Amino acid sequence: PAELKRRVKEVLTTVFKHKDFKSKHQKQAVHAVATRNRDTFVSFPTGAGKSLVYQLPSLVYGGISIVISPLIALITDQVAACQKKGIGCEAVNSKLTLAEKQRIFEDLRSDQPRTKLLYLTPEGLATDYLQKIIRSLYDRNLVAYIIVDEAHCVTHWGHDFRPDYLKLKSIRKLAPLTPWVALTATANTKAQEDIIKQLDLKKVQIFKTSTFRDNLFYDIIMKDLVQGSSEDHMLRFIRRCLRMDVEKKEKGKKIGDWIGSGIVYCRTRDECEQMAMSFNNAGMPALVYHAGLSPKIRDEVQEKWMKNQVPVIAATIAFGMGIDKPDVRFVIHWTCPSSLSAYYQESGRAGRDGKRSYCRVYYSKADRNFCNFLVTKELNMVKGKKISEEAKAEQTQAIKAGFEAMLDFCEKPMCRHSAFGKYFGDPVAPCEKHCDMCLHPEEVRKTVDNYQALSSN
Ligand code: ADP
Ligand code: MG
Ligand code: ZN
Repeated sequence: PAELKRRVKEVLTTVFKHKDFKSKHQKQAVHAVATRNRDTFVSFPTGAGKSLVYQLPSLVYGGISIVISPLIALITDQVAACQKKGIGCEAVNSKLTLAEKQRIFEDLRSDQPRTKLLYLTPEGLATDYLQKIIRSLYDRNLVAYIIVDEAHCVTHWGHDFRPDYLKLKSIRKLAPLTPWVALTATANTKAQEDIIKQLDLKKVQIFKTSTFRDNLFYDIIMKDLVQGSSEDHMLRFIRRCLRMDVEKKEKGKKIGDWIGSGIVYCRTRDECEQMAMSFNNAGMPALVYHAGLSPKIRDEVQEKWMKNQVPVIAATIAFGMGIDKPDVRFVIHWTCPSSLSAYYQESGRAGRDGKRSYCRVYYSKADRNFCNFLVTKELNMVKGKKISEEAKAEQTQAIKAGFEAMLDFCEKPMCRHSAFGKYFGDPVAPCEKHCDMCLHPEEVRKTVDNYQALSSN
């Protein structure tokens, strides 16, 4: 174990070029995974450094880790980051040319593969050819770990269920003795139990830290109670978040320039278009992002935003998964999210660099009703599915619980961080002044009363 510790430290500093671990939790998880005698479940918030928890032990052990991740875009980022550090890392997916695939497969068949991390989508994993390769790697003692990133995708208690994730546990028979690592940023107690069950994790060791992020300021604005137009209200807020109105100390910046960037989530494509148009009219450069645009345009929009060439994106929830932009200063939801775990994930894209950032929902009675209608529609869809009654009951319960928690979050005069804590099974958040309720409780209570009065009319 002393030797193992030494190796861990060495790889941390020489390959990853980190002076130290990001936190004691990251350190504990890395060491536990590196010991290789049990399966591991990791639930750390976004930005906590979960990749290192499996990448580092993989390199210490040698051999190849199979990493499952839900989206090609996510995988592409990870592979690029690894290759930059000189780590042998490959991704096999449907977008590769035959020659590229052959090059990778040849390496995997060789006695000493260069590849240390092999990234796959669950669909990719399902192909016969890859299964054969994994089996052969295993028989040659070359499989280090099976990693499931974004593990909440395996459960309805998360917010991004992918049926293909359910097939993952079938790899167990290809590599029966290989340790597994499942990682997620968002799992409440139910989700955690279900992930462990669905992936069939054995003797699992659990590393979970609080979901509380003290650099994020959460508040709710009741659109129905705003003086004047809510759009103008939002514009003023965005200008403040991006410090467009203040005197710029930074060299070369002038009033109207922005610092950092942000996202406004809207429900529909039309709403995104209209929002961006009114921003641009008001002198706030903005672009739209939604599934109706071609992939080429979407990439361009994302790139411009990533490079801070445009500060604001008006987007549907198609935007954001896997985006690792440090200086997102605000995430606004112009409409009510349909579950609290989705909201935690989406708003959590703010402030990855640890600096003060703002998360806000513009809430209204009409939108609440519309969201209720969508959730009811979703529940009806579950009813019509060809699955067991038990599965139906569970999915129904998961959808309802997520939605009700979201409504409570918006409508109850309660610390917003503690609402997340309650939902995710964390201890009460030491929020103090990081949400509207803790900053000025009387005002929030009054607003809630006024909103309730409005609703009962
Ligand atoms: P997560 O998957 O938990 O959201 P990532 O693994 O993507 O987080 O890591 C987030 C950022 O933190 C990355 O830029 C990564 O390089 C950085 N990071 C991870 N571990 C450390 C460390 N020990 N020291 C400094 N930076 C780190
Ligand atoms: Mg990650
Ligand atoms: Zn609070």
